Amino acid sequence: MKTHLLENIVADKDSFIPNPPTPANRVHSLNHFKVERDHEDIAWITFDMQGSAANVWNENTLREFALCLEALSREGAAKALVIQSAKDKIFIAGADLKAVRNAPVRRVETLIQLGQKVFNRLAAMPMPKLALIHGACLGGGLELALACDARLASDSEQTRLGLPETQIGLIPAWGGSTRLPQLLGLPTGLELIVTGKLLKPSSAKRLGLVDQVVPREHLEKAARKMITEGLPKRDVPLNHAFWKLPGIRNALAHRVRNQVLEKTRGLYQAPLRAIEVATAASAAPLEKAMDLERHAILDLALTPQTEHLIDLFFRKEEASKKPYPRGVAMPIHEVAVIGAGVMGSGIAHWAASRGNHVLMQDIHPLALAKGLGRIQDLLKDGIKRRALTRRDMQDTLDRLTMEHTSVPLARYHLVIEAATEDMELKKKIFTGLAERSGPDAILATNTSALSIAELAATVPHPERVIGLHFFNPVHRMPLVEVIVTDQTSDDVTATAVAFVQRLGKTPIVVKDSPGFVVNRILMPYLMEAVRLHETGVAAEVIDEAMLEFGMPMGPMRLLDEIGLDVADHVANTLCAAYPDRLTGSSLLKRLVTEGKLGKKTGQGFYSYKDGGRNRKTVIHHDDAMIEHVQHRLALLLSNEAARCAYEGLTRQPSEIDLAMILGTGYPPFRGGPLAWLNDFGTDNAAVELRMLNVSTPEPNAFEPAAFPKT
Ligand code: NAD
Repeated sequence: MKTHLLENIVADKDSFIPNPPTPANRVHSLNHFKVERDHEDIAWITFDMQGSAANVWNENTLREFALCLEALSREGAAKALVIQSAKDKIFIAGADLKAVRNAPVRRVETLIQLGQKVFNRLAAMPMPKLALIHGACLGGGLELALACDARLASDSEQTRLGLPETQIGLIPAWGGSTRLPQLLGLPTGLELIVTGKLLKPSSAKRLGLVDQVVPREHLEKAARKMITEGLPKRDVPLNHAFWKLPGIRNALAHRVRNQVLEKTRGLYQAPLRAIEVATAASAAPLEKAMDLERHAILDLALTPQTEHLIDLFFRKEEASKKPYPRGVAMPIHEVAVIGAGVMGSGIAHWAASRGNHVLMQDIHPLALAKGLGRIQDLLKDGIKRRALTRRDMQDTLDRLTMEHTSVPLARYHLVIEAATEDMELKKKIFTGLAERSGPDAILATNTSALSIAELAATVPHPERVIGLHFFNPVHRMPLVEVIVTDQTSDDVTATAVAFVQRLGKTPIVVKDSPGFVVNRILMPYLMEAVRLHETGVAAEVIDEAMLEFGMPMGPMRLLDEIGLDVADHVANTLCAAYPDRLTGSSLLKRLVTEGKLGKKTGQGFYSYKDGGRNRKTVIHHDDAMIEHVQHRLALLLSNEAARCAYEGLTRQPSEIDLAMILGTGYPPFRGGPLAWLNDFGTDNAAVELRMLNVSTPEPNAFEPAAFPKT
């Protein structure tokens, strides 16, 4: 029987659980929780959020959980309290971010206060409290577990523990910034909070975050045994008292702060604030520690930076999980990859390691051998980083076959062509693929910029042709542009989207057009960087400006990494498509002719003697120059992004922002080039672009696009 106890709640400032009904029996079912007291006098709270695949904390669930605690207190202390989840893959996924996004500050404050009160109350309950963790135990989920006396985790692949709040511009403020360092010692606590790292159960055990790791089906038995035999005596973290000494504590905070500044150039506020709070809280009484956490999160929650990061989280979730709205997705488990070069072997590795049977084909046996070598290196590296076991490596290799002749491809439902970037070669390959593959096979190409429609015209079933544009290196880059022509069928698009999602990547469906979205927006920016360099601005200054803007790599160094020949090739495609405003770079062409192709030849815009980038010191740059370069290049990125939005290349403009963040590392805290434009002000941007346009020799290079109305 469900009892709607929430109706009794009066939002009173001091008492948030007024008049809960006295339980008459030993089982209480609320909307989202079940409370039971068993024959051994152990109390069990099971979280099962209704209407949701995940358990999350919002005002409702927190208040209900408080009612559970209240009910247990009124019944008299149980022998122990065990908290578990009824969900298959999730313990508690954290706070309901929808409750924070765009919420008025008072609402956020209420939520934070409520969570702190409830978890403090849990921590103060007189019996031993145990969290039984199976599945994701993140943010507020781990903060609940930290308020318990012991944590038992399942050894499942689904189980992950961590406090990722700083990654979305927040800090753990339901006691996490205080209790994690208390449990693990300040150095480890700070590291986990600042990086937002998610731990596997085995690593969590090694650090002392969980007390026991057992198979999921043994969790209950292990909990009962632990209650009977007594909770494990916790070793005080090494030098715990030492790190509490004010001088030592502050020196540690200073060191971690410097590490964060080196990585983020101070552009991200949350990790810096988290260091301050966790360090001060580690030596403060509980009430003061909670105040510090609360004030910090309220300062951070409503900043544009945090709003962008939370928006990004939602967009990525949606793109990575939501099925394509039209068409029917067919399951794909057999994939052929044509070409065993950098991209072909990268795609083959990733697809095979995600459970697909993969045929990798190349005309050159040596290319196949090299491709296999790259795959083996990636797998070995995974073992070294403990991300993989030897068994995983063997299973992946067992799913991989290689071939250098044109064998029939009837069993492969998806063929991904990743051969050399040459339209005539690709047309020939596609003609052959149409003959060799089954009647329903999807023919995909990984081309960087060639027309998918032109390729599709070479086969009898153009509706089965699609672009799957993976990025380099495949194992690191989360984005795949799914490029559709006017003829691509909805079923094929839905299947490709589902396949990419199953690979754990984020698909973004893009209309076929030169450069698609990412290269289309990136190339004018890279070309402009080269032009600036030609006018006398040092490569280091240009790179420094964009690093300060938040890009992970400056444009000159990025060109060297891509290869100047490859960049020139893509630039040519785009210049041919938009001759009115894009012109190639003579400097780039000269360097290509001289064989200076970037990192791969040891010389590009930088010199790479001894295998590494020869870091020249920046001789002199003034702030005005840095700002000039930033404006010029950032405006160009946003201008091209606005054109893509205007042309409707993606279903929603926000997908352009997501594609640029995932495909190029555009600074996430800026929300993407369209969001940046919005923050900069479209009117301001138009004025600046017009001024740049008249002062630039290349006609129309800075002609403002039609900006979306703000
Ligand atoms: P690569 O030169 O490393 O590899 C191309 C491979 O294709 C070679 O091993 C070659 O032997 C093979 N090949 C040539 N003709 C073939 C045929 N008829 N049948 C089978 N194999 C054949 O090139 P790459 O960097 O892996 O690029 C492959 C594709 O991916 C290109 O279209 C490129 O534009 C695109 N792409 C490249 C990158 C990148 O950064 N390298 C990123 C995204 C997309």
